[in-house]
Amino acid sequence: MSSIELKNIVKKYGDGFPAVNDVSLDIADGEFMILVGPSGCGKSTLLRMVVGLEDITSGDLLINGKRVNDLAPRDRNLSMVFQNYALYPHLTVFENIAFPLRLAKGKHSDDEIRSKVNDAANMLELKDHLERKPANLSGGQRQRVAMGRAIVRDAEAFLFDEPLSNLDAKLRGQMRTEIARMQRRLGVTTIYVTHDQTEAMTLGDRVAVLKKGVLQQVASPRELYEQPVNLFVAGFIGSPPMNFLPARVDGSTLKLPFCEVPVGGPLAEKLRGLDIVIVGLRPEYIKDASVADVPNGVHFSAVVDQTEWLGNEQYAYIPYEADHAVQSKLDELDRDLDGEGMRTQMIVNLDSRSRILEGDEAQFAFDPAMMHVFNPETGENLT
Ligand code: ATP
Repeated sequence: MSSIELKNIVKKYGDGFPAVNDVSLDIADGEFMILVGPSGCGKSTLLRMVVGLEDITSGDLLINGKRVNDLAPRDRNLSMVFQNYALYPHLTVFENIAFPLRLAKGKHSDDEIRSKVNDAANMLELKDHLERKPANLSGGQRQRVAMGRAIVRDAEAFLFDEPLSNLDAKLRGQMRTEIARMQRRLGVTTIYVTHDQTEAMTLGDRVAVLKKGVLQQVASPRELYEQPVNLFVAGFIGSPPMNFLPARVDGSTLKLPFCEVPVGGPLAEKLRGLDIVIVGLRPEYIKDASVADVPNGVHFSAVVDQTEWLGNEQYAYIPYEADHAVQSKLDELDRDLDGEGMRTQMIVNLDSRSRILEGDEAQFAFDPAMMHVFNPETGENLT
């Protein structure tokens, strides 16, 4: 059993703004937990506190129910894989992997070490490279050696700090599936830090999203995608990102840039007292009405400014008038998300049958049940 519990963890560097602010998170035995968020959100700091490389300012860290705040890193028995691999250049691949076993002096016989290193090398397809030095390996192979060194010990948990960020896109995809396979096979509790949402969505049993040191949501990848709790999570998860459209509230009707949507039930209640909301619609939920049937859909027509064809996907871009009342809120959100500024165009992920061209005035439709409605002040998802 290796559970990890974070209870109200705070980290302050000096007397500045907390880098990690009151984070509570339970990671179950065998669970693959992802920490994700934009640069500077505190994810590495959190991981470094778990492994013992940073002091915890306040709060409790428990491993298997035991408080370990004051335990030295080596006594926590956690295996960490760093972004820069941290291999020993003068040692062979074999000796790099064997290193933690040799460090536990007298604990493992030579035969045992050989057998453990060989098992790890087999799993990571390194067995033909055991006598090489790190300088003679590719980036992907070096990454595998770093992982071999982490898995060779009987650690309580694996901690990964952006382990794939130095690899090119193709290798990253390949290593991603290897890490997923390895973690499932070994069933070891894992915490994995990344700012890459593809890694977050594909690797994790659950994903914890952080913004400025504060935990926003912890959920399965599907739940994060389908039921984000606020604007930040909605904007961070998904590529291309969710469309955020300004909407005026007029009684029980939402007035969007191209259409009006009647609302009822609990949402109508929650809209009371609000003049403006932000409507979130994922690009794939807006359909080209000339090829897709959307029963009970809201229909609208709009001029397509630009199209993009990527082979397996095609997108249409539809500009709209900015609503100044909400635009400043969206700009602020964009900065939080490390974005590039004004969002005044809608992206539609077109059906492969769609033949919309740039400049066309086309008919679109969406199912209002797929719409998210956010409070522009608090960012809360009201749907
Ligand atoms: P990145 O993805 O860029 O690595 P991150 O989410 O891992 O970012 P952290 O490295 O944990 O973020 O940093 C969180 C905040 O704490 C940042 O504002 C950073 O500037 C600050 N910080 C990190 N390490 C230190 C330090 N040693 N001294 C002072 N401030 C620090």
